Amino acid sequence: MHLLSRPEAVIRYGAINDGQWPEEKEWLTTVAVPPAIHLTYEKKPVLHLTCNKDMAGPLELALKSIIERGFAKELRTYGGCFNIRPVRGSQSIFSWHAYGLAIDLNPDRNPLGGASSWSDGLVHCFKEEGFVWGGDFHGRKDPMHFQWGIG
Ligand SMILES: [Zn+2]
Repeated sequence: MHLLSRPEAVIRYGAINDGQWPEEKEWLTTVAVPPAIHLTYEKKPVLHLTCNKDMAGPLELALKSIIERGFAKELRTYGGCFNIRPVRGSQSIFSWHAYGLAIDLNPDRNPLGGASSWSDGLVHCFKEEGFVWGGDFHGRKDPMHFQWGIG
């Protein structure tokens, strides 16, 4: 499946209004974090991620490549995936997180608007599976952020 633009995403997944996404149950699934990856959230281990069904396959493949190529140690903290909210600093533009189509990783080392902690190899594992990396954004960089959507 190709990456969707925002208008295409609204058509496929249904609109989000007032923080409510009526089709949420039809689209969300859980992805098990592979044992070779040790992610924590508030110092507790994260064993499953809740994300959109359309992103689950590419995410699993990206994590598999990360392990196979020796980058698993870079992944340390989880910053969230599914979360209904607008883009930070915006009232109206929905975040890809609202559809479970984005994941934030190592937020402590990759602050919004700041520098990236990632190796090129790790970023490549995500891009190879079709993800757009927030560190490539033209405006405000968001290096913790990998999304399955355009714009
Ligand atoms: Zn994000």
